[in-house]
Amino acid sequence: MAQKQTHPVEMGPIEPHQRLQKLIADSQRVSIDPTMPINRYYRSGNQIVETADRSLREGNLEKAFTFYLRFVTIFVELILDHPGYKSVPPADKQQTKEKIKKILPRAEEIRKKLLEKYTTEYKLYLQQLKLQAEQEEKEDEARRQAAAAAAVAAAASKAANQQATTSTGPYAPSAPSHVAVISDSDAKLIDQVLYPSDFLTDRSQATGLPGTGLLLAGEDKAKFDRSLKPILPATPTLATGFRSIIVPTDAMQKFLDLASANTASNLETCAILAGSLVQTRFTITHVIFPKQSGTSDSCNTMNEEEIAVVQDRHNLITLGWIHTHPSQTAFLSSVDLHTHCSYQLMLEEAIAIVCSPKYRETGFFNLTPYGMDSISQCRQTGFHPHPAGQPLFTEAQHIILSDAVAARVIDLR
Ligand SMILES: [Zn+2]
Ligand SMILES: [Zn+2]
Repeated sequence: MAQKQTHPVEMGPIEPHQRLQKLIADSQRVSIDPTMPINRYYRSGNQIVETADRSLREGNLEKAFTFYLRFVTIFVELILDHPGYKSVPPADKQQTKEKIKKILPRAEEIRKKLLEKYTTEYKLYLQQLKLQAEQEEKEDEARRQAAAAAAVAAAASKAANQQATTSTGPYAPSAPSHVAVISDSDAKLIDQVLYPSDFLTDRSQATGLPGTGLLLAGEDKAKFDRSLKPILPATPTLATGFRSIIVPTDAMQKFLDLASANTASNLETCAILAGSLVQTRFTITHVIFPKQSGTSDSCNTMNEEEIAVVQDRHNLITLGWIHTHPSQTAFLSSVDLHTHCSYQLMLEEAIAIVCSPKYRETGFFNLTPYGMDSISQCRQTGFHPHPAGQPLFTEAQHIILSDAVAARVIDLR
């Protein structure tokens, strides 16, 4: 989704400063989940910065800007309201502060460049509009002349036919007087420019990066009934720009084996998927079971610090999570969507694997840009309906199942 190629003229109608404001507002439209262990944010926050750095290297200024801003928004503002904030080790806070000090000037540089870029695109748009208007004006003029000529000819022939029978005097009918003062197309243009389409309110036209609404056209309009099992769009939103994640095929079986006692009692089990990044590929190498308590449709983790210790020891990045649905099919419930949103906020490639032993289904999911945006804005907790419409999640397109790697299981329960 990230590799946007917005044609200048598409975004051109938006005044450059307004356009930048919109990008900033979208980048800040993120939220953190107070029920998530705060530890998870501090552990994975760096992934946001890395994505931003990478986007910058690739020349994707908007994405870089969005991710830097996301990091700042989370760690300067939002995190303060997290109930666990007091428990964060001072060293972690200090490290984050230093990171922000580095990020801010970088973001400011990008902001300037974006403004230049938007200004150029805006000028180009205005030029094109002007050319178009001139062309239309020429065509109108040609039409008017033809009509006037026809009218003159008709009048002349009429006059010839009815010579001396009318009292119109010596004046031949002239072209209608309004011709000379035909609409001021420039004024019309300015109108269009000052009041562009409803870009400020129409989120569906501006879905993009998770929670940031980078300026991408919303293309996935498939209907999606959340109350049913997932009817995934025929052509899921392609996660272009996502790095792939290699999933060892044995990971699911190993996970299910260790979950089987819970599954037999109709209790959910969950685990963290962790691994490494080599060049542009993630590989899940570890399935880590934290201490947890499950019900038939939920699973809460405890003592996440223990996971952190294990991850540090093995130098592992959090790549997502896996859980069972002992009596349901494989999909993401409303609670799952919220859980996954915080994973994906940190690492856009993060995946959720759902295993349904009963229905013999395994789902590999991630939230759509629309889903990231809506779930970030949703303040409800527990099971609750989300508006039907565009899909909130989709089958992950960036996973590669592989027998070449074996998953290691670490059970902290
Ligand atoms: Zn679930
Ligand atoms: Zn919700």
